[in-house]
Amino acid sequence: EEQRIKKRIAIFGSTGSIGRQALEVIQSHPDLFTAEVLTAFSNDALLIEQALAVNPNIVVIGDPAKYGAVKDALAETDIKVFAGDEALEEVAAMDVYDLMLAAIVGFAGFKPTIKAIENGKAIGLANKETLVVAGDIVMNMAVENRVPIIPVDSEHSAIFQCLIGEVRNKIEKVYLTASGGPFIGRKPNYLVNVKREHALQHPNWEMGAKISIDSATLMNKGLEMIEAKWLFNLEPDQIDVLIHPQSAIHSMVQFEDGSVKAQIGLPDMRLPIQYAMGFPYRIKNDHPRFDFKRMNNLSFEEPDTKTFRNLALAIEALEKGGNLPCVMNAANEIAVYAFLRNRIGFLEMTDVIEKVMSQVAFIQKPSLADYFDSDAEARTLAADIIKL
Ligand code: NAD
Ligand code: MG
Repeated sequence: EEQRIKKRIAIFGSTGSIGRQALEVIQSHPDLFTAEVLTAFSNDALLIEQALAVNPNIVVIGDPAKYGAVKDALAETDIKVFAGDEALEEVAAMDVYDLMLAAIVGFAGFKPTIKAIENGKAIGLANKETLVVAGDIVMNMAVENRVPIIPVDSEHSAIFQCLIGEVRNKIEKVYLTASGGPFIGRKPNYLVNVKREHALQHPNWEMGAKISIDSATLMNKGLEMIEAKWLFNLEPDQIDVLIHPQSAIHSMVQFEDGSVKAQIGLPDMRLPIQYAMGFPYRIKNDHPRFDFKRMNNLSFEEPDTKTFRNLALAIEALEKGGNLPCVMNAANEIAVYAFLRNRIGFLEMTDVIEKVMSQVAFIQKPSLADYFDSDAEARTLAADIIKL
């Protein structure tokens, strides 16, 4: 077998659900990967524990108030410690890693990710919001800098894997599968009363709080439709969503001859994470294997966009384009934040997003500055509506 040099990984958001699993993959394959950079927003205790375990070159703690605690805890090591938002960008611009695993949640992950692209670093992209907000600019930047963007989101990893060997062939359609979340089959009269604890219980995946709520509202699938548009250069009508509660098929590609390729596996995010980190190599592991004999009932149905109106709003944003996905994303981040703090109800999240989308001025071809302005304006408006 070919001798491979170790890939130096920078995990941005190492204390999150994706970040922790990425670290697990690195620790299971010390011959292939080293963790060079770890970053956390406020969980200093876990960041310190991770740093002591894998001895990275650099750690960044987002919250400057926690700098002293991290610095003291790592005083006996030669790990460099930085703090604050700007440090995230500065470290992303350094030449100390080969691949950034972009695993910060929300628009907060945008700036470090584009810094990494400008710095010519490969991206393993979990942070879908980066493409939702400014997919046109991000993808152009990636092309200009010859940077591969390898999806970590399980649906997009599935599509990416189905496209290997198909460089000469056009995609007719992609099918994004969706588990349906914890409230599949429910109607508004039920949803009006659900609380955060209930919404955080996802049937098939254990994820961070924001994406868990997005899965419960189906906004996550809407964000993923927009993510797919940019990653695979698709028209909106080439992207279909199928509710598939078993989460066995992670997504599918249909080609022009009608042939459909699917990627199948157990719902375990370590697979798309290790695929992105190891690409173009598949890495042997001892994870449990998919058992077809125990999976005799794969079902598929249309999503209920009348009940889960966030998905309808996201489809509108996907179709209209411009700054509308950016505005929608910002309003959604504020609405989810408010719901998680019991400030608004489950269905009110949709009302907030819809209002903000109708009130921020539409821009057909936004500049990067326009995206930042639209994001800020949408956040302010959403916070006003909620009276945060
Ligand atoms: P999480 O909430 O568990 O972790 C988020 C990470 O980002 C943490 O390390 C946190 O410290 C950091 N962070 C949060 N806010 C920050 C800020 N303002 N500045 C700097 N760092 C900040 O989230 P997650 O579930 O791991 O999701 C991460 C990303 O991956 C999201 O964009 C999500 O949509 C995507 N994703 C997650 C899953 C999953 O299974 N969890 C699956 C597909 C895609
Ligand atoms: Mg997904």
